[in-house]
Amino acid sequence: MDYDIIIVGGGFFGMYISEYFAKKKRRVLLVEREQDCMRRASYHNQARVHNGYHYPRSVLTALRSRISFPRFIQEYSNCVVSDFQKFYLIGSPLGKVSAYQFQKFCERIGAPCEVAPTWLRRLTNPHFVEACFSTVEYAFDATALRDTMLQRLNAVSVEIRLGTTVEGVRQKAGALAVSIRNTDSSAEELTAAHVFNCTYSNINFLLANSGAPPIPLKHEMTEMCIVEVPDEIRQSGITVMCGPFFSVMPFPALGLHSVSHVRYTPHYEWLDEGGDADGAQGRLFDARPGASAWEAMRKDAARYIPVLSECRYSQSLWEVKTVLPRSETDDSRPILFRPNHGLPGLHSVLGGKIDNVYDVVKAIEVNSIGL
Ligand SMILES: Cc1cc2nc3c(=O)[nH]c(=O)nc-3n(C[C@H](O)[C@H](O)[C@H](O)COP(=O)(O)OP(=O)(O)OC[C@H]3O[C@@H](n4cnc5c(N)ncnc54)[C@H](O)[C@@H]3O)c2cc1C
Repeated sequence: MDYDIIIVGGGFFGMYISEYFAKKKRRVLLVEREQDCMRRASYHNQARVHNGYHYPRSVLTALRSRISFPRFIQEYSNCVVSDFQKFYLIGSPLGKVSAYQFQKFCERIGAPCEVAPTWLRRLTNPHFVEACFSTVEYAFDATALRDTMLQRLNAVSVEIRLGTTVEGVRQKAGALAVSIRNTDSSAEELTAAHVFNCTYSNINFLLANSGAPPIPLKHEMTEMCIVEVPDEIRQSGITVMCGPFFSVMPFPALGLHSVSHVRYTPHYEWLDEGGDADGAQGRLFDARPGASAWEAMRKDAARYIPVLSECRYSQSLWEVKTVLPRSETDDSRPILFRPNHGLPGLHSVLGGKIDNVYDVVKAIEVNSIGL
């Protein structure tokens, strides 16, 4: 056996799980296709450390966020940015939640929620904003998070191979043989007792090429706009809830803000039910739309907060966002954890938000996987 555990995918989830097993004295290899870790969804996202507010339609997800939030901000205090005010605004008339319901929901999950200061309220259009609340929510710096995780993996001797793609897994003499393709196109086969598929939007590519059944997933081609916001809201994050609205959050890795919009961030979506043996997913990412939806986002957001029309666009972050089809109805973010899926020893995981890693580790422990 070359390794006890091979982790496929060097996003935040793969890195966290690698460290977890290395601390348990397992020999761990982490394999990442890109030239660096955390270059895909773990970087291309809104950098929100969720504290429950986002999920009024899924109390379970909200409560789990409330539990993970203090743990995450303590564990990654050097990567978390908290020096801004976070406001949740109740959009109207298209909102799915009223101000009263939002306040009651916050009470129920024990999340701080107070009437926002007058200066903020004055920035909003009362025809479209029913109420404004001050809340407690932070942002993470994805670059600092990657650097911290790289140091931590180094400290526990996790071996990392970058620019290397795992092409498939098969059973071989009581172990798993993992086919890998190096940057120089050379192929290799390595053996391990366990393989963790932490490839997020690429989960079904690895499964299909390992003879394992696909997992039904929904993918969206998403665009997150990175902008410079006007001075009035530079020290703020603003989310308009709960419907076809938008979010403006500090994006610490670039010292700017990110803007996402429920209607315009997803450019198109597709169901992935049949597996992805030929890597169609990857090709879709490479062929992402050239045309930004920033103007549509800006125009719509300015209807609620007119000063947002003065944002200066910098760039777009494109990513394939992957969610479980059942999250569609209630916007919940359960983890996907499929131990021994298709092959004994091959485990697939997917988290809907960064702090879901704690739920994944719990699932590993409950199922005694690799321990
Ligand atoms: C638009 C958007 C906004 C979001 N906003 C937030 C937010 O504000 N807060 C939050 O907590 N979460 C947010 N999320 C969710 C969050 O980004 C993900 O839950 C998290 O990043 C998933 O981490 P991961 O390690 O599983 O995936 P990734 O970071 O994508 O890592 C998977 C890795 O696997 C590698 N890989 C794929 N196939 C192979 C292969 N065959 N061989 C080797 N390597 C391979 C990829 O290169 C990649 O690096 C958002 C996601 C998106 C897309």
